[in-house]
Amino acid sequence: MFKEEFPLLAGNSLTYLDSAATTQKPEAVLQRLDRFYGKENANVHRALYPLGDGATASYEESRTRVKHFLNAPSSREIVFTSGTTGSLNFLADSFGETLSRGDHILLSEMEHHSNLVPWQMAAKRYGLILDFIPVNEKGRLDLSGMRRNWHEKTKLVSVTHISNLLGTVNPLEEIIDFAHGKGVPVAVDAAQSVSRLPIDVQELDCDFLAFSGHKIYGPTGIGVLYGKEHLLERLSPRFGGGSMISSVSLEESTWAELPQRFEAGTPPIAEAVGLGEALNWLESRGRAGISQHESLLTAYGIEKLRSLEGIELYGTGEEDQLGVISFNMGGLHAHDTVQFLSAGDLALRAGHHCAQPLIRKLGVPSTVRASFAVYNDTSDIDRLAEVLAETMNYFRKKGVL
Ligand SMILES: *Cc1c(COP(=O)(O)O)cnc(C)c1O
Repeated sequence: MFKEEFPLLAGNSLTYLDSAATTQKPEAVLQRLDRFYGKENANVHRALYPLGDGATASYEESRTRVKHFLNAPSSREIVFTSGTTGSLNFLADSFGETLSRGDHILLSEMEHHSNLVPWQMAAKRYGLILDFIPVNEKGRLDLSGMRRNWHEKTKLVSVTHISNLLGTVNPLEEIIDFAHGKGVPVAVDAAQSVSRLPIDVQELDCDFLAFSGHKIYGPTGIGVLYGKEHLLERLSPRFGGGSMISSVSLEESTWAELPQRFEAGTPPIAEAVGLGEALNWLESRGRAGISQHESLLTAYGIEKLRSLEGIELYGTGEEDQLGVISFNMGGLHAHDTVQFLSAGDLALRAGHHCAQPLIRKLGVPSTVRASFAVYNDTSDIDRLAEVLAETMNYFRKKGVL
């Protein structure tokens, strides 16, 4: 769908199946960045001339777009960051600081390193204890394990919406219901889900939510942390500097209102404007249709790869797998497999996919990962299957497999 709107892909023989790492950008976003730098560039929140006013307006309009996109109650709850990693590091350190030694944080065994390592760092710094929702052999979160591993001092749950390794869509509603029943807030890593599932933070009732612009057809260097206002109010800034203060003396300073207090210095202005355009683009093309397209592609891919001999698939293989398929071929190392695929002009990733604990749980050193976006269609998957079959034959003939 809409492939012709993506300059890098249109008229190119490349089969790009690595959108879980980053998505390609539609022409509309590229043009918006060009127009910003070519005609609108100025710093925000400071200038008292029309160009500066315009840049500030565009930057703040993007914030409003994000608010609408997530259906957040207020723009004060939308903090621009450098990406999911930036959002989660800020949250872990800032929320961690509000806790007492011996308090617990509940994560899951399928987290991306960026929703694990920052919590490990905060745990060391503030004397916190990390617990984990286990993953079962199907690649699903084990919610009875969540109840078992709940501690009376659990103060926050932070989980991914969709696993970047397995594509598992987690039952956030059940997790949030359970945690809220205990009066505990829930943070969601939406890096993989925000482009694939309609997300309404009020309906979901999550307390924090993080995502990256570059995984939703926008620029790199920009991300979002959504937080409920009363919770954001409890957090203190990590960075001090321009734009985040109310008043400054030589001895001390007071902070600006939300969300400016968390956006010290010159923010990624053009990137924020580009993200706003990407969200516009996605909405105008129809979020529900795009979501359905990815769901059909995933099902088609699973079926197709299952029909090939010698492919081992990981993940649920059912309706709760979206946008990502992890597999290995025969006894071949994933890196060798993707090199053969690359020779066939296919871009896929091999490795631990920033989820080493989950890889270890699968009992393999690495996997090959195919991931989809709006511009892929079934012919991309047919091409993948074709090159996999050729590779398999080659190794069979050599007696390696
Ligand atoms: C990509 C990803 C991240 C990290 O995003 P960055 O853009 O690299 O900061 C975090 N969590 C998940 C699930 C991801 O897929």
